[in-house]
Amino acid sequence: MGAGYPARPMSLDLVRNIGVAAHIDAGKTTLTERVLFYAGRSHRLGEVHDGTATMDWMPEERERGITITAAATAFDWNGHRIQLIDTPGHVDFTVEVERSLRVLDGAVVVFCAVGGVEAQSETVWRQCDRHQVPRLAFVNKMDRAGADFERVVEDICTRLEAPAVPAHLPIGSGAEFRGLVDLVHRRALVWKDEDLGAAPEEIAIPGDMVDAVELARHILAEAVAEADDVTMEAYLEDEELEAEALAAGLRRTVLERSVIPVLCGSALSNKGVQPVLDAVVHYLPSPLEVPPILGHVPGTDGTQPCTADPEGPLRALVFKVTADPHGDLCFTRIYSGTLKTGDQVYNSRAAKRVERVGRILRMHADDREQVDEAQAGDIVALAGLKIAATGDTLFHKGEELELERLAFPEPVIAMTVEPRQAADQGKLEQVLERVQREDPSFRVRQDEHSGQTLISGMGELHLEVIRARILREFRLDARVGRPRVDYRETVRGAARGEGRFERQMGEKGVFGHVQLNLAPVDDPVVRVLWMAPPDAIPALYREAVEATVAGAAEGGVAFGYPMVSVMVTVTGGSLHPTDGNEAAYCSAAALAFRDAAERAGEQLLEPLMAIDIHTPPDYVSAILTDLGGRRAQIGQVQAGRRTSQISGTVPVGEMFGYATTIRSLSQGRAQYSLEPIRYAPVPDDRLPF
Ligand code: GDP
Repeated sequence: MGAGYPARPMSLDLVRNIGVAAHIDAGKTTLTERVLFYAGRSHRLGEVHDGTATMDWMPEERERGITITAAATAFDWNGHRIQLIDTPGHVDFTVEVERSLRVLDGAVVVFCAVGGVEAQSETVWRQCDRHQVPRLAFVNKMDRAGADFERVVEDICTRLEAPAVPAHLPIGSGAEFRGLVDLVHRRALVWKDEDLGAAPEEIAIPGDMVDAVELARHILAEAVAEADDVTMEAYLEDEELEAEALAAGLRRTVLERSVIPVLCGSALSNKGVQPVLDAVVHYLPSPLEVPPILGHVPGTDGTQPCTADPEGPLRALVFKVTADPHGDLCFTRIYSGTLKTGDQVYNSRAAKRVERVGRILRMHADDREQVDEAQAGDIVALAGLKIAATGDTLFHKGEELELERLAFPEPVIAMTVEPRQAADQGKLEQVLERVQREDPSFRVRQDEHSGQTLISGMGELHLEVIRARILREFRLDARVGRPRVDYRETVRGAARGEGRFERQMGEKGVFGHVQLNLAPVDDPVVRVLWMAPPDAIPALYREAVEATVAGAAEGGVAFGYPMVSVMVTVTGGSLHPTDGNEAAYCSAAALAFRDAAERAGEQLLEPLMAIDIHTPPDYVSAILTDLGGRRAQIGQVQAGRRTSQISGTVPVGEMFGYATTIRSLSQGRAQYSLEPIRYAPVPDDRLPF
């Protein structure tokens, strides 16, 4: 184990933190697996369809053949260290994609040579845009009948509005696909089947391709020159740019995202994989070449840039927590400083809690290497942390700084869950709590009215995957109810409320009295503001009263859903000379909250989803008619020659089982994605209860 790794950390300019992103089925898993094979990190080639692909290590992923959990794996290529973050392809897991993209410096986006740009590719692409991720495009499946490299490049340019330019040309296509020409170096490479593609052979550029290669290289050189002054100077001197000058220019433009080189190959038939790795090393940035991320100085409005300096203060972001047979692993990107085994680290979310880093692991696809330290630019897994959860920043004592938190949308659908054996209730709660620590888009709460346990998440598949995990990983058979909308509630206006709690308990009386205001605000969270003078409510009870109010908001009033966008101001109350009592003030606060909520009037809110549909034009009208019955607001219908795009918004509750509907409306030809965007008031005539 660990053989062949440099003992000391690598120089940062030789590190590449990258991800492979794609819509489902484009071949991301196959490509990743081939990459690990050629880099010597996995010993046999598993095929996705026989369930042995190395990165898909969770059993249900194997069964489904999709990659759900992002795991990080490191390997060496040509003297560089590539740290690969696996990003899931299913649209219900865009949160996972987002958090992976957050810690990446560059990405390879995989497209299918036959399918081209699909609805999900657009989602992934937009996420990369949002995180300003430099990228390469890889057109996979060149061996399939109907593969059309040029058309996919055109699709990327038009549908994704991206500055895509071929950096490869395929040699042959479909069954005839043999290899590719690297335009920058004018190298033709072909792969043999016998050695599983391990050793490509360089051949002369096929005679019938010479003109096409020159033309394509010219187009590439021009695109780079237009976007890069240094290349432009060289180009004006001599249009025949040297390979070295063109490669250097291409690198700068990729970093600036002004050119996106398009590569080609076939992962399944082992052709064109090594050039992807070469391109990663040549054209994607090292941690030193990306803009420093910003950290927030707690208690102030100030921000601080965080540069990739191993000598700087420690700033590390936990981007993923996974269960492991030996305890939890926190996948962490170190942005600055150095972390050593045994270090005491502090945590941005629970600032006073300190914990010890037990072990630092560099994860490979098939083994793990224990290292003594990790530094800026590294992505490692930490073992031994009990508090740290996804999204937390770790730092050393006295150096507090919070890196921009990962944004996780609120869950939009909920289901009840209960163990089949009543005796397992306690175990179920524990298991749900740990799943929640791993996955911030998953929540657990108690239903106020029925007392049942409710789990909520990003979509039907998300919750189904979690249920399957609970069964397999924790051997707990849970029964889940039908999916339902995870509503929220808020107040319609501002109002005052008052609560008084006075009882005679035997000899002694107890007394509490609280006044408060509720008001709607734009901010989605609930805030509690304390304005009560000490001669109205004893300062001693402040914490308990605030907690009661926050708890009341969490449980909702009229509908029993958590409240959002509410400001609670505790304004006053009164004292009793002898009977003041904490529990009585809490009861009074709960009464006051209910009183104010009833006066203010409550509004039920439903999650609104952005919907994006791509369909052959023939089915547009059927799809629109159907959406009309689902309270959808259609934003735009863009007609295209081969595909039309429909986008708009729709309440999540109208979309259960939509996959089946759209399949039958379009004979399986339309694709769609749904992403939660915000809450909207439920119209009064549509109240579900
Ligand atoms: P992912 O969903 O993007 O991870 O895609 P997979 O790697 O699971 O691949 C989806 C399907 O496409 C599998 O059946 C693969 O065997 C197949 N596949 C992947 N790459 C290629 C390729 O280069 N050519 C062909 N013909 N099929 C491929």
